[in-house]
Amino acid sequence: MAEDVLALLPKWIVPVEPAGVVLEDHAVIVQGDRIAAVLPTGQARRDWPEAEQVMLDGQVLIPGLINCHTHSAMSLFRGMADDLPLMDWLQNHIWPAEQKWADQTFVTEGTELAIAEMLRGGTTCFNDLYFFPDAIAETAVRAGIRAVVGLPIINLPTAWAGSEAECFDRGLEVAEALAGEPLVSAAFAPHAPYTVTDEGFRRIAALAGERDMRIHLHLHETAGEVEGSMTEHGMRPLARMDKLGIVGPRLLAVHMTQLTGEEMDLLAERGCHVFHCPESNLKLASGFCPVAELERRGVNVSVGTDGAASNNDLDMIGEIRTAALLAKGVARDPEAVPAARALAMGTINPARALGLEDRIGSIEVGKQADLASIRLDGLETAPVHNVISHLVYCASRNLVEHVWVAGRPVLENGRLCNLDEQSIKQQSSRWLDRLAEAR
Ligand SMILES: [Zn+2]
Repeated sequence: MAEDVLALLPKWIVPVEPAGVVLEDHAVIVQGDRIAAVLPTGQARRDWPEAEQVMLDGQVLIPGLINCHTHSAMSLFRGMADDLPLMDWLQNHIWPAEQKWADQTFVTEGTELAIAEMLRGGTTCFNDLYFFPDAIAETAVRAGIRAVVGLPIINLPTAWAGSEAECFDRGLEVAEALAGEPLVSAAFAPHAPYTVTDEGFRRIAALAGERDMRIHLHLHETAGEVEGSMTEHGMRPLARMDKLGIVGPRLLAVHMTQLTGEEMDLLAERGCHVFHCPESNLKLASGFCPVAELERRGVNVSVGTDGAASNNDLDMIGEIRTAALLAKGVARDPEAVPAARALAMGTINPARALGLEDRIGSIEVGKQADLASIRLDGLETAPVHNVISHLVYCASRNLVEHVWVAGRPVLENGRLCNLDEQSIKQQSSRWLDRLAEAR
């Protein structure tokens, strides 16, 4: 049977690669799960007469956004404990709630809520770190979203695994089960330097090398983390990670708000990737990631929301804007991280970091058709002098109209295709009652 062919006809296309380009009067041809052509509209009508035409008047078509760091299930903790420092927030609020509640059902329902929010905001891929990665993967497959699920390694007992050793056993089972899954893959996800043993990190380094997997790790999140490592190990966390074999191109280092010049050079030299979560860092007052400095040294920087418990939303359009604005403030330079570079931090940069750059992150022939269309014909975005500037500095997630993952529609006219919004809202309010009772 012939594959379905769609001709998407937006007002503008921002392919992201090449950087800074805006195409008008062009179509994107989607054949099956792939982008088959990007070509002038007239030519598209001639060359692809059988294609079903999808008119996207007044809309810009962009590659689906990639949320490089989140804890989906924590959406159920949204707004439960705010305005606190990281360790107080974790030790006195989040960890006790997780101990009591974070079972398989919690993770499935929390992840469903998060995926619904992400798809509605134009996010087509997320890199997750939470317990029950099998439940996260199963939910992602059901929702039709692309995901990299972290195999959590933590030296604390949880409902998912009783010990660090058990994390490895259970995590590797999940990795095996996901082999051959087209949209979902796995990465190692040691929680943080202070919650994983030296032996655990050595084992991760060896296994990630053998299996060609990424290592997704919270690192240098706060000054307190660095001080604690100096006291306990006599060295900064990044130096300890280097000693344990973790610092290389597989490392996805989340936060990185505490960095010296030498450390930034080391990250660049080793080809490490930095995952920047500006709103979480601002809310927890963790410090500032030196994004412009890292980019200048050649480090690949991507933007993620972190979990909704510390953000408190999973809005990638908003996060990209915060990243662009904050980078300028931190660098005291309005030219730092211009709009096209900020957009790359939510698309092609995380695709590279996750090792998926041959499949997603830009609108290019041969890549998977992970796409989002955003309305720019309203009052709030008039007049449209510069589409890329608007995407970063003016648009909002409420303007996302259609989303496709691997050529299949997952959001149509702002409505989710595979998930039931009503039942997700009901599930979430049941958790509100349960969590409120526990306090
Ligand atoms: Zn995090």
